[in-house]
Amino acid sequence: MTHVHGGPHLRAAILAVGDELTLGQTADTNSAWLAHRLHQLGILAVEFNTVPDNLARHSAALRRLADVADLVIGTGGLGPTADDLTRPALAQAMDDHLVEDMVALAQVEAFFAARGRPMPDINRAQAQRPSRGRSLANLHGTAPGLWGIVNGVDVFCLPGPPGEMKPMFEQQVVPRLRPDPGRVVRTRALHCFGIGESDAATRLGAMMARTSMPLVGTTASAGVVSVRLRFEGPATPADADAALDLTERDIRTRLGEFIFGQDEDRLPSVVLALLRTRGETLACVESCSGGLLASMLTDIPGSSSAFLGGIVAYANPAKSALVGVDPHILEIPGPGAVSAECAAALALGGLERLRADHALAITGIAGPDGAVPARDGVPAKPVGTVFIARAARDQPADVRRFEFPGDRAAVRRWSALTALAMLRFHLAGLPTPKLLRQVSP
Ligand code: AMP
Ligand code: MG
Repeated sequence: MTHVHGGPHLRAAILAVGDELTLGQTADTNSAWLAHRLHQLGILAVEFNTVPDNLARHSAALRRLADVADLVIGTGGLGPTADDLTRPALAQAMDDHLVEDMVALAQVEAFFAARGRPMPDINRAQAQRPSRGRSLANLHGTAPGLWGIVNGVDVFCLPGPPGEMKPMFEQQVVPRLRPDPGRVVRTRALHCFGIGESDAATRLGAMMARTSMPLVGTTASAGVVSVRLRFEGPATPADADAALDLTERDIRTRLGEFIFGQDEDRLPSVVLALLRTRGETLACVESCSGGLLASMLTDIPGSSSAFLGGIVAYANPAKSALVGVDPHILEIPGPGAVSAECAAALALGGLERLRADHALAITGIAGPDGAVPARDGVPAKPVGTVFIARAARDQPADVRRFEFPGDRAAVRRWSALTALAMLRFHLAGLPTPKLLRQVSP
């Protein structure tokens, strides 16, 4: 296929470069990110390719991809060392030679000058570009990007580190893209908690047919079911948005109270926003989740206005010393650390110690060891058994028992998200339904 340069960019191929990728030491996140961004811009990624730091494989891949797509975006191999071969690989694929780019050299020098360091000699190579190519400025690192044309196809080479690749894509590549102007892609996501993926799909029914437009699909992760809407095709952006609005309304009537947010919303951010609106505060006390809930909340900037803090009360002595759990609960013949009584005591202790309006507590068996056998009248507690308590000032605690699936990390994640979901239902003024994986009461 011979491409006439200047035509629309309809199909993109993505090339990830680096020994660390083909050796399986680093996961390729760049390709997924680029495909997602391109798709938002109306350009479909038709192929992902990964090659090691090898000149022949790299230039061959560039040539082959330029034959199957009308846009190629590569990442990696732009560093200053001998294994960074993107510059010669692109030159080779273009049947060109390398020259030093004065502007790029000044930018690499300026990068070091700004940090009060002389430019090491090896970094000079980073200012090279194919004679018929262009250098792309890097505001976040030393490696300039490259833009060249192979077989009539635009090829952009970006740095490997995601923190440099993403801004360079936005600043240097996006303005040079030519998506089909008559075609739009619009996506939206509605996030649910408390309903299983199959139940959600049943409620959505024929909306999920692969032939309908907007397309409706679901994905599930640790109890969060996301309903994804996508309009794709010839339309004006306004018409596409109107079609999405209509579909969204329909989905909301079918999934109603389970929907806690959309697009960038996450359970921690939604819970914090609800707390802020009410001017209320939260504390959490965690055993088997080891601080994951607190970590999720503090991942959000400004969370201190609603999240007071968390206590990791892991071993039994810490549950008594830090939160005041009665040792009679923890020790046989008491119900034990993994029990509704303990979860409630942790939540109430958290409320009181941090003087919070709300508290969440998690205690359970994350595994892989620690299953508790049955004893006189007390049923066994398999790995994945978790008790979660939600307490609010002057109200009885809501305590539930769950059996979460998966490995240690999965059980912790389910625990933290389920705790947040319990609080979200409460703050939204909704009755908390029986949740996924809940086994009692
Ligand atoms: P580079 O020197 O440009 O080849 O890339 C240097 C660093 O970028 C590597 O050590 C990786 O940590 C990161 N990196 C490179 N390619 C990728 C990729 N496809 N996805 C995620 N990180 C990457
Ligand atoms: Mg590399």
